Amino acid sequence: MDPRVRKLYEALFALEDLREIFRTAVPGCADEDEIAAGVARVEAILNDLKEQRSSSLRYITDRIELRTREEEYININPIQPGGRLTPEARKALIAYGDGYSICDWCRDLRLDKIRRPPVDEFHAELAEFVGMDEVRVVPGARRGFQAVTSSILEKGDIVLLSELGHYTEYLAVELAGGVVREVPAGEAHIITGDAVAETIEEVQATTGKKPKLLIIEHFDYSYGNEHDVRGIGRVAREYGIPFLYNGAYSVGMVPVNGKEIGADFVVGSGHKGMAAVAPSGLLATTDEWAPCVFRSSHISGNISARQFETKEPEMLGCTLMGATLLSMMASFPRIKERVKHWDEEVKKSNYFIREFLRIEGNAVASEYPRKHTLSRVDTRNSFDKVARTHKRRGFFLSDELKRRGIIGEFAGSTRVWKLNTYGLSWERIRYLADAFLDIAEKYNLRVDPCSAGAG
Ligand SMILES: *Cc1c(COP(=O)(O)O)cnc(C)c1O
Repeated sequence: MDPRVRKLYEALFALEDLREIFRTAVPGCADEDEIAAGVARVEAILNDLKEQRSSSLRYITDRIELRTREEEYININPIQPGGRLTPEARKALIAYGDGYSICDWCRDLRLDKIRRPPVDEFHAELAEFVGMDEVRVVPGARRGFQAVTSSILEKGDIVLLSELGHYTEYLAVELAGGVVREVPAGEAHIITGDAVAETIEEVQATTGKKPKLLIIEHFDYSYGNEHDVRGIGRVAREYGIPFLYNGAYSVGMVPVNGKEIGADFVVGSGHKGMAAVAPSGLLATTDEWAPCVFRSSHISGNISARQFETKEPEMLGCTLMGATLLSMMASFPRIKERVKHWDEEVKKSNYFIREFLRIEGNAVASEYPRKHTLSRVDTRNSFDKVARTHKRRGFFLSDELKRRGIIGEFAGSTRVWKLNTYGLSWERIRYLADAFLDIAEKYNLRVDPCSAGAG
């Protein structure tokens, strides 16, 4: 563990304390002695940092620990890498952390119309980025699903979901009074256009009703498999059923063009795929559906007679405020750039898995070759065999990984588990693969001597 990480936090916190002096002083009259003392404290900490002195700092305040895993480890957690903040997002977080900070220059009483900072431009670019006409930012992909289900479902309406669908899709349907019917993913764990068409036919034959909505993810959270969203888009068109493309694991990492796919709605997650603070996400749609989901409020007060026509009820007026939105905006230039390098991310993912499979007994439960960086691996015939006789049981693997600076696998699990290599450099990828091979050798698991080679 590098002592400088905690020292760095100490310095950042000391700067925040210094900042607080200005936030509480009469304008222009900050106490000079207090400032000098604050600066001296920062300098002393930076000096410690230079000398690599250790830090005793453990908490921000009462029992809220520092979080140092992104600085001290390679984090292979399945859901976290796409939401790791960019340096720009972290700066936005510091500058716009105050509650309603985004409202400084709000004139039209609508978040997406704010021009300073350029929230309005960001919305326009975001819609283009996912190949749709209109977009709103929402507190998480789940709130995007909810806005759609709440807008178009009536009680008892049927919604088709993948049998690998995310729980938040089910809950969004439940809340709107809908009923779920699942599309089977088959032995390959992949949803095809044909499977969707067959399920629609079956639903029509058994209930006499046409599904009102189709929600399918491009990449599911269980296997990270790619589902045939284009084929599904075509089927949705043929049957005239609106299609919500769930891009929680794609928007912000994979190039996405909703209209080319044939989607009526595109939902993305800021904290899963767009290097933004949680909860954040986006809901994009076409000119055809925008008047439905982004309709204006019509309610009025019976005494006050007030109306709120500028507000959109599905958004409850404004959605992401302050640091959540600003982090998303600050990361956006890098997000636009990074989706162009998705192929390289897939290459690294495949390199890692190929190396991982050199360990006898290791298997990958996801489709292979990989098309995503999230993978479900099966180590029941390798690391789990070791775990059975190890005094630390399944935790032996977490211990060994942690010792090598790797964190984020499900601690204690040596059976079927998930990891995500998104955003790791080639250097880190090779290090990660070598770490697993090294652990295998230490526990006398056979390792195929033929390496995968780069790329
Ligand atoms: C993570 C995930 C979600 C939920 O995303 P939030 O932004 O946290 O609401 C929905 N669907 C899938 C497939 C996911 O992987």
